[in-house]
Order: sequence, then structure tokens, then C-alpha cells
Amino acid sequence: MTFCDHCGLLLPVGADRCPRCGAPAPAPFAGAPETEVPAPGPRYRGVQPPAANTLTTGGYFLYLCLFGIPVVGFILALVFAFRRGGNRARKRLARAAVLYMLLLVGVLAVLYVIAGVAAFLAAQPLRAGPWI
Ligand SMILES: [Zn+2]
Repeated sequence: MTFCDHCGLLLPVGADRCPRCGAPAPAPFAGAPETEVPAPGPRYRGVQPPAANTLTTGGYFLYLCLFGIPVVGFILALVFAFRRGGNRARKRLARAAVLYMLLLVGVLAVLYVIAGVAAFLAAQPLRAGPWI
């Protein structure tokens, strides 16, 4: 970037004369590299994930509500979890929902068994031990 010594105009890169007054362009400083302004281009060159593989907050909310429906939600989660293709974020959410529901069913089954055994034992009449 150089300026005309005569009129002070900013000279275009590589010009040997001033376009306004015709004075010869000053020699560039010895050793001063000619700086190039980087060409404008895309600032973010990273690969953006395709929109088909993301879910918005509203999408997560919608699918969590759907998966929360007692029987239909479990079937929907199974379909979304194991169907080929489709939205990968939804697939991961559906798989997590299936695992969560299986865990919930397992824990509830254990609790029901414990409660059933306790109720059965509580219904038995008290008996005297053999030591009496
Ligand atoms: Zn000039």
C-alpha cells in the first residue's frame, strides 16, 4: 500500500504512476513485503452437520411428549430407534427413550415383586413357633 508523494492519493497495487497527478509512484520500502488483503471467502470452512441429522429444542420436546404416551410412545420409540435411515438425532433420542423405558419397567417389576411378597406375608395368620 503506497501513497503518491505528490498529491497523497492512495495508489492501486502495482501502479507505477499516480492516476490523478501522473507523478511516478514511490519505490516501496526495501524489504517491506507487499501485503495482500486476503480474498473474502467463507469464514467457516468446517462441515456443518446436515439439518436432517439435528433436532431443534421443539423437536426434542415433541418427541419426548410422544414417547411419554404409555403404549403408543414405546412403539413409536421402537420404530424410530430401529428404522433404517431417517433423522439420526431422532434415532439416538428414540434409542435412549427405549433404554429408559426398559430400565423403568425393570425397576417397577422388582418393586411389584417386593410389594407382592410383603402383602402375601402380611396376609398370613401369625403362628406360634415350634419352641412353644
Ligand atoms: Zn498523485
